[in-house]
Order: sequence, then C-alpha cells, then structure tokens
Amino acid sequence: MSYQHQYVDGTRIHFPVGKVVCIGRNYAEHAKELDNPVPTEPLLFIKPGSCVVPLESSFSIPVDRGSVHYEAEIAVLIGKPLSPRPSVEEVLDAISGFAPALDLTLRDKQAELKAKGLPWEVAKSFDGAAVIAPFVSNATFADLADISVRLTINGEVRQDGNSSLMLNPIVPMIQYMAGCFSLQAGDVILTGTPAGVGPLNVGDELVLELPGASRFESSVC
Ligand code: ZN
Repeated sequence: MSYQHQYVDGTRIHFPVGKVVCIGRNYAEHAKELDNPVPTEPLLFIKPGSCVVPLESSFSIPVDRGSVHYEAEIAVLIGKPLSPRPSVEEVLDAISGFAPALDLTLRDKQAELKAKGLPWEVAKSFDGAAVIAPFVSNATFADLADISVRLTINGEVRQDGNSSLMLNPIVPMIQYMAGCFSLQAGDVILTGTPAGVGPLNVGDELVLELPGASRFESSVC
C-alpha cells in the first residue's frame, strides 16, 4: 500500500515521504509500564519512510515475529527545512499538520535486542511499522501543550494521553531533534506514546483519534 502525505479532506500534500523521527519514553507512565528508566536526555530513533503505511480501513501486521505492540502517538508533519538550532518561531512555522499514528513495535524482538544492548531497527522499522492517518492543519491547535491522542480497541479505550504529559514537549523536542538530524519537508515526528501499550491481533477493530480534531476507524488484517 503506497503512502502519500495528505490532509483529512483528501488533499494530497506534495512533500516526499521522508524519515520518521521518533522519541522513546516521552511519557513517564509509559516508561514505567515497560520497566524502563525515564531517560535523562531524549531517546531518539528513526523509522525509514519505507515503513510508513496510511491508516485506512485496514492494515496488516507481521504474524510470525512475536508480539506486535501498538503505540498510539501524535504525529507532526514537518513542512519546511529546519536549521540545526531553530528558534521556537521557526519550529512553529515549519509544522504543517498533526495526525494520530501508530508506532508498531515487535516487542519480543525489541526486548531481546535491548537485553543485548543492540539497536532496535529490526523491531521498529519493518514494512508497515508506522501507520499514519491523514493530517489536520497546523492551525487546528492553539496550544501544542494540549493535544490529546486516544486509541480504542474493540470498544475499550487502551490509550488516552495528552501532550501536557510529555517529558519533552513538542517544540523543544523538535528543536533537539533538529540538532541531531537535518529535518526536511516531508519528515514526520512521532512524539512518543502514553501508557497503555499492548499487543495487536488480527481482527482487532481500532478507533484512533486526536479527540476534537480527527477520528479514524481501522481494523487489523
Ligand atoms: Zn513510540
């Protein structure tokens, strides 16, 4: 399934599909639930553009590589290149939109790699590992410290977070990321997952939303 950035009204966003820069353990309650220490500096990793799929009526998950966990996250679309030390205004000006997304993770594999002190790519960057919904415009939220993200599976709310709970809020996070990797139009930031992660199974029915802004239904096939 090929992916192209788009807005919720179906308008295509003509940026290339860049890299997906992710932050781990950005909500204290989530770090705790996986018995991880809260990092003293932001923990970043990258998913390649090749692993991004659109959030449509269904998406597929690997079935032969151990447990696949969902991580519902607020995705931020970058629409302008950022300098290595962007100001707050430059970061705000470079944001093109927001969407809910799933950072899918091969949790058994990740635990095995973590235990050996090895990189996580195999667990985080497989084809289909980033499921991204269409974006709402950057004008949707007056306060970036008050964006909610919610995931409901088979009628039960599993994750219900708000950006006010982030250890690294969105703008300083992007400033930090820009100092580590050049950020280009078409890159996506995944801003970390709140508590409540767990396994996905074929047949699960999902509702993924930025409450008040956008809502999507999908199922796992
Ligand atoms: Zn994540």
